[in-house]
Amino acid sequence: MKVIYLDNNATTRVDPLVVEAMQPYFSELYGNPSSMHSFGGQVAQKLQFAREQTAALLGADPSEIIFTSCGTESDNAAIKGTLASYPEKKHVIISRVEHPAVLNQAKYLTKAGYKVTELGVDREGRLNLEQLKKSLTDDTAMVSLMWANNETGVVFPVEEIAELVKSRGAVFHTDAVQAAGKIPINLKKSQIDFLSLSGHKLHAPKGIGVLYKRKGARFTPFMVGGHQERGLRSGTENVPYIIGLGVACQLAVDRMEDENTRVKVLRDKLEKGLMSVVPNVFINGGGAPRLPNTLSISFEYIEGESILLMLDKLGICASSGSACTSGSLEPSHVLRAMGVPFTAAHGSIRFSLSYFNNEEEIDFVLAGVPPIIEKLRAISPFWKPGTSRPAAACS
Ligand code: PLP
Repeated sequence: MKVIYLDNNATTRVDPLVVEAMQPYFSELYGNPSSMHSFGGQVAQKLQFAREQTAALLGADPSEIIFTSCGTESDNAAIKGTLASYPEKKHVIISRVEHPAVLNQAKYLTKAGYKVTELGVDREGRLNLEQLKKSLTDDTAMVSLMWANNETGVVFPVEEIAELVKSRGAVFHTDAVQAAGKIPINLKKSQIDFLSLSGHKLHAPKGIGVLYKRKGARFTPFMVGGHQERGLRSGTENVPYIIGLGVACQLAVDRMEDENTRVKVLRDKLEKGLMSVVPNVFINGGGAPRLPNTLSISFEYIEGESILLMLDKLGICASSGSACTSGSLEPSHVLRAMGVPFTAAHGSIRFSLSYFNNEEEIDFVLAGVPPIIEKLRAISPFWKPGTSRPAAACS
């Protein structure tokens, strides 16, 4: 059975060009980049090139790139590394829709005596900037807000936020794991201090990430050991993956326009097609600026898990809520924060596209989904044809 992969916000296919570029670094070119001999030295040169390719995607200087193992590590390093550098400040601001890599750190920080403010979002998933302004105090060490949401694709105005945060003397970190490679980023023109990126969201392998650290930003590393990454993240470099990430970043630069035109057209076709045929659906974050590849759609009065199982039988891969929360039957924390009604949050599906999708696949999904929804609604105790929108929002 052909697989139609529409779960690219969970992870992406490693691009064949990335695999090809990595291959020699497992076999012939296995030297340690820190070695004195030229066999290792040639690897060091390639690492530097990958650093330049990565910096170019972010509009950063290569010296501001720190390679890590994943987005989660980058988020942890940014937050822990900043707070350790400002021990006198005990206040942190995040949002209620952050990824668990940030949200669960916040829980840990609260236990450790920090005050954590979680900013709310509106029904479209937009951040309340007034609440942010009011929350910033002289005790605020840092603000960590995602660039784009993994479930809805809603984009926060992080450049504007960075200016606001810096004007109050706090540090600003953004989790750009979903944004990087999908929308243009130019850190030279922004005041963002730290940014997290993850390779497996942009066609590089799982197990490689980046922490961008603005030149001069105070940072206390929590991986301490050798001198790698200028002593900011010790441990022998994951050479093949770093080389692969560099190529993936280069490809993302080359394909940015395609992502924002062809991929967006496919996403919009899927969205409009489903909305015009299936009753009682709505788009989560549809009224906000969104990533070009992401569609979070709620089918009222049915279970997302059941939809996923039936899609799976057709070879269609999607997600209910975020992949990290789909093991749980609770509606996702993101949809709850947006006040999506309970009956709709449960029936939410995330389709996330990539460069590798085509129109034929979208047509297949458009033909496959409506009968699934009809079948599930026919056996749903809550569904009556012509049912109007429900009132109760989930808490
Ligand atoms: N941040 C966001 C917004 C994500 O979507 C993810 C992964 O889903 C992460 C962080 C964690 O990245 P990684 O899987 O590389 O640890």
